[in-house]
Amino acid sequence: MLAVAMIAVIAVLCGFGVVATVSFASRAMSAGAQAAPQDAAAQGEQAQDGQSQGEQAASDERAAELALDPERTTEWNYDGVEEKVVYLTFDDGPSYNTEKILDILDSYDAKATFFVTGRSPEYRASIKDAYERGNTIGLHTMTHDYDKVYASTEAFFDDLEQVGEVVKEEIGYVPYLTRFPGGASNTISASYSPGIMTELVEEVPARGYQYYDWNVGSADASGINLPPETIVESACLEGYRNVMLLFHDSNTKDTTVDALPQVIEFYKERGYEFRAIDRESFVCHHGVNN
Ligand SMILES: [Zn+2]
Repeated sequence: MLAVAMIAVIAVLCGFGVVATVSFASRAMSAGAQAAPQDAAAQGEQAQDGQSQGEQAASDERAAELALDPERTTEWNYDGVEEKVVYLTFDDGPSYNTEKILDILDSYDAKATFFVTGRSPEYRASIKDAYERGNTIGLHTMTHDYDKVYASTEAFFDDLEQVGEVVKEEIGYVPYLTRFPGGASNTISASYSPGIMTELVEEVPARGYQYYDWNVGSADASGINLPPETIVESACLEGYRNVMLLFHDSNTKDTTVDALPQVIEFYKERGYEFRAIDRESFVCHHGVNN
């Protein structure tokens, strides 16, 4: 219900040319140069990792583009790309539904981004599968427990680094992409740490990550197995050149899978492409409320 209520706010905050997001650009770029020692160490470890799949992936150009690199300065694209693009994003997986989502994406030759958690070890092979099928993997959270994740800045990065290691085991590197549980605009974190989001939106880019919020929600988090038509109605909007679309990939979101083909067809008919997020993609940031 919170998600539904926030869509209107988010749609306003997360459009193109929004002052709040543009003004953040200069801060994020200058902050990119500040490397955190523990992340630099993690990068070093990566090269020594004995996994042959890991070595293969790390040497790959795509891996190099998507890997966390605190030394790297990226000119982030807060204004969006010229083309009509939908960035389909799936939070909270992997799950029982991930492979179904991947098959639908493949059937439309559509790429997406999965912001994963560490909660479901039994489905972790789907992280690698999603990546090998051309999708991008981002970090959501290890536990998704708000009271743990937002207990402190240190607790937040502990959790993020843990899910980073889970992903590294599957694809060979720690990706730079993140999505905050609840988005940067969440207010639930205020119950645990007043002001923490204000700090994290600075500190996350300072450590070489980029966070991605969304400008269109599918409403699928507002209930268990909502009717597909409710999801389609919420997800299919006219008027955005670049759509950063939030879905959830979990065992209780079967109707997200049911709705996905209709959502893809809606945007396809209107000339949109479906791209996985990379460093050149539209960066959508919400306003911060804590
Ligand atoms: Zn989530």
